Amino acid sequence: MDDTATLDYRTLKINGVYQQNAAGDLMIRAKLPAGILSAAQAEAICDVSDGFSDGMLHLTCRGNIEIHGVQGEDLPQVFRCYRAVGLTTRGACGGAVRSVVCATSGGQGFARLQMLVRVLHEHFTGNPYFEGLPKKIKLAVENGYQGARHLCQDLVMVYLGNEDGRDLCDVWVAGGLGRQPQEGFLLAGRVPFERLIPLIEGVIKVYQKHAPAGKRLKHLLGEIGEKEFRALLAAETGGIPVCPVASPFDDALGQASAPGAFGWIEVPVFAGQLPAADLRQIAAVARQVGDGFVAVSRDQNLLVSLGAGVDSEGVKEALQAAGYLKDENPLQCRACPGTHGCPKGLVATRDVARLLEENLSEKGKALEWAVSGCPNSCSQPQLADFGIIGVRKGADAREALYDLYKRDGEGFGQVVREKLTLDELMGAVKELV
Ligand code: SF4
Repeated sequence: MDDTATLDYRTLKINGVYQQNAAGDLMIRAKLPAGILSAAQAEAICDVSDGFSDGMLHLTCRGNIEIHGVQGEDLPQVFRCYRAVGLTTRGACGGAVRSVVCATSGGQGFARLQMLVRVLHEHFTGNPYFEGLPKKIKLAVENGYQGARHLCQDLVMVYLGNEDGRDLCDVWVAGGLGRQPQEGFLLAGRVPFERLIPLIEGVIKVYQKHAPAGKRLKHLLGEIGEKEFRALLAAETGGIPVCPVASPFDDALGQASAPGAFGWIEVPVFAGQLPAADLRQIAAVARQVGDGFVAVSRDQNLLVSLGAGVDSEGVKEALQAAGYLKDENPLQCRACPGTHGCPKGLVATRDVARLLEENLSEKGKALEWAVSGCPNSCSQPQLADFGIIGVRKGADAREALYDLYKRDGEGFGQVVREKLTLDELMGAVKELV
């Protein structure tokens, strides 16, 4: 590719590449099922960041890794580098089934969850029947009902466990955050794994056929209502046969080979941004004393996998020796790129996170925080104990403004203060925490 003027941005989008600005800087997003990647894949991402960007990485709340500021002429080499280690960016942006998010809390059944995530990822990624959607479809697999996460995606499978040899899930649909937050609803309870793919395909087909361009599933539900949606879904799923979801490594071998099946060591990452050099070092620890896998958590931290036979103390010591895990009480704050890297950003999210870190007490820092650069809410501020959303850009002598959210009950957090200046925001935070 010799000239960025020849780039077809629509095609690039479905391949996980966004245009960041008029100068033609590009963001490339690696689509990581359950946020998990091997040490070799992590190193390939670091190579791309060092070779074709500024050596920084952005970890997303959906377990993906973005590199910003890539140039069009470098894309062939970037894609080659990713392909060499089995990384895909297909469907990481645009009207497609996005990465399948998964709770990375490990524990009972985690190997089964990962298997389901991988099957869904492979079934929908690059599948032409499920591309060219009106907008994105976000899938998640949860291992329980914590933190309202089952309410905020287009399609969520909540794993209930294995009963009499059958893995069962509750299926929630039509949730979303953004400018019009909408809690999802229970579409079907106790669905066995073999009925999941036909059901998900049916939901996507209804969405594909009936939602206008640019609208999400939640908007379609808002227009046609649950009754009509269920009738359309029944018509779509009527002829689809069941589709077993089984791993060649079921049970004992599946558990023994799944990354994170015995837990993780979490390495905090400030506001989701870290130098590629850090990921490189952490991947080296995973390779040398772990099981060779790391993951991106939904809180934008890095996780080093404790697979079968891994000595967790050995991993911890290696990370400490490399200079990590020193801060015993780091700020738990998710942040989207905001004006640091997103064309839609209204405020400098990482600067706000830094101010929180400076101003909060130890008790305040231990709470869950999230800062979003605009009402699209990519850092999921309505799921945090306290969420901050930039609502006006600070330009032309007009100050940037922020809304402050607080989460108390079972559902999404609600706005408690609106249109605050930065000083007012910090004052409100001190008062409320
Ligand atoms: S919340 Fe807004 S500023 Fe932040 S990444 Fe999403 S679109 Fe960009």
